[in-house]
Amino acid sequence: MGFNVGLKAKCKRCGQEVPVDELTVDIVYEMAVCAACVKERKLKEKQQRQAVANPETVVLDEKKASPKPAGWDGEDEYLERAARLKAKEVVKAKRIDDQNVLYACKCTARFKYNTKTEHPGRCPFCGAAIGKFVIV
Ligand SMILES: [Zn+2]
Ligand SMILES: [Zn+2]
Repeated sequence: MGFNVGLKAKCKRCGQEVPVDELTVDIVYEMAVCAACVKERKLKEKQQRQAVANPETVVLDEKKASPKPAGWDGEDEYLERAARLKAKEVVKAKRIDDQNVLYACKCTARFKYNTKTEHPGRCPFCGAAIGKFVIV
């Protein structure tokens, strides 16, 4: 410490002459600057952080406060309703020939179904009864 007493050097940023041991190589400026410059930089960064952080916080809070949870519920309800409607939907079957169709079960299995003999009576994969279907 005592070694540097009295020695002065110029801050590379503001040009102010300061005691040498007040100069620090700042990681952002990447040069020897005075304590005041470092303080100024940190203050600016803090302000910038706050300026950036605050709108975000406000937006987040608004989102939380907004009727989004209700919207989510609505969406869930809608999806549930859609799923229920889909379950009630008539199964589609593709005509293969005058007797057979390709029946698509709710379990996503597809198999040949004979419309004359009504065979198989159940889905061979999940056992669900053959429901109403439309031949497409
Ligand atoms: Zn300076
Ligand atoms: Zn099935």
